[in-house]
Amino acid sequence: MSSESPRILIVGAGLGGLTLAQVLRKYSIPFTIYERDASPQSRLGWSLTLSTIISPLLAAVPQEDKPPLSDIAVTHTFGKTGSEGMILMNAYTGKVFAKDVTKPGGHLRVSRAALRDWLSIGVDIQWDKRVVEWNTTEDGGVEVVLSDGTRERGSALVGADGVQSHIRSSLLAKAGITTNPLSWLPYKLYACARDLPPAKYKPIYEVNPTAVGSFGDNLLFFGVINRAAPDLSTAEYLWFTSWPDLGAGGRPDFMERQHSKSFEEMMAEVKEKVKDTVEPLRGLVFDTSKENGEEIVPIFLRQVKLDAIPEGPVTLLGDAAHAMSIFKGEGGNHAMLSGIELGELIGKAYSVASLPAGTPPPLPALFKEYEAKMLARTRVAIESSAKATEWMHASIGEWETRDVAALADRGRST
Ligand SMILES: Cc1cc2nc3c(=O)[nH]c(=O)nc-3n(C[C@H](O)[C@H](O)[C@H](O)COP(=O)(O)OP(=O)(O)OC[C@H]3O[C@@H](n4cnc5c(N)ncnc54)[C@H](O)[C@@H]3O)c2cc1C
Repeated sequence: MSSESPRILIVGAGLGGLTLAQVLRKYSIPFTIYERDASPQSRLGWSLTLSTIISPLLAAVPQEDKPPLSDIAVTHTFGKTGSEGMILMNAYTGKVFAKDVTKPGGHLRVSRAALRDWLSIGVDIQWDKRVVEWNTTEDGGVEVVLSDGTRERGSALVGADGVQSHIRSSLLAKAGITTNPLSWLPYKLYACARDLPPAKYKPIYEVNPTAVGSFGDNLLFFGVINRAAPDLSTAEYLWFTSWPDLGAGGRPDFMERQHSKSFEEMMAEVKEKVKDTVEPLRGLVFDTSKENGEEIVPIFLRQVKLDAIPEGPVTLLGDAAHAMSIFKGEGGNHAMLSGIELGELIGKAYSVASLPAGTPPPLPALFKEYEAKMLARTRVAIESSAKATEWMHASIGEWETRDVAALADRGRST
């Protein structure tokens, strides 16, 4: 590498940080990526839908050392492609609203753990390294402090550290910005991942191989596959339920109160909501048992709306910069796109091939260019994800009047 090559410090080996790392690697730009988790096994995570990101990801990320993306599809072990659309139905009667619903721009349901592994190929992740502090240095770069007390220097810092981003809050605080860009949407969500034997998972799989979505009276109730054992002896399914919680959802102590609930308290709330729903979804909740080691997890619908990012050698990407409601399934797609856009800008300016063309723009100037585009793109997605959340939690009467199949088709063709 040329002596003019910058070293980029990336905080967070989630979907956004890893995508950035892959693109920098393609251009041979030096980087270090810190991850607070102890190992890839610390967080297996659930499945997610890749859509608009599929083509940009395949174009931007080196493929030679990776298996085809379809290998990480949730239904790969069943000999399917993961592009199977979901089914949407009335939660109380089972009446089908729409079949084979796929997302516009591509549709691939993947295991999150497998996607993280795929994005980690060829990337040297610094596991168990939590960044606790950072400061700018006299030469215009950045120094990070890790939780073990060590300090490391780089030319610039990218906070890809998720919705609760420490880099974001410290960056705004250092710039004297007191407005908190993080807000909550007023909904209550619970989820639980369960390992099921064939007798339990097959009835759900037979309704739809990737996702069974149902809607009740201001109630959303989904059963989705996360992964299956290679011999299909078990499959991990996730149930998740959500409903508007207008009184409590927006209160500042909402997260704390939700986290302090016992398994039994959360189970009682969910059972009350889904007691009149049809099988096989109802049983997915009703059979949940603490004795089997199953845990119910409260999830929070958080949004991050930034008007601007303070100028300098520090920027943000992914949920740290633009977290959005999960109900359009776009947050991860946007996190990876931000990783690609930032990586391409840095790579094209600073790769060995570009440097002879002249002095590249300083990193803070490249960051401004990236941020303007990224914030404009994701502001639209944050708003439309919030609208979709409201739309999905309609009354059952409203659902019955909707032509969901036509809406899904229209979505596919736009
Ligand atoms: C239930 C659910 C379903 C979803 N479904 C979809 C979907 O279908 N499609 C979709 O596109 N999106 C979906 N999303 C959203 C998607 O998961 C997020 O938008 C995406 O994970 C954001 O990626 P990220 O890299 O910005 O952050 P994260 O994935 O949160 O990664 C941040 C990383 O930073 C690490 N970290 C944090 N702080 C530090 C620190 N101080 N030092 C070092 N490391 C640190 C964390 O450990 C983590 O690994 C869903 C989300 C949920 C909750």
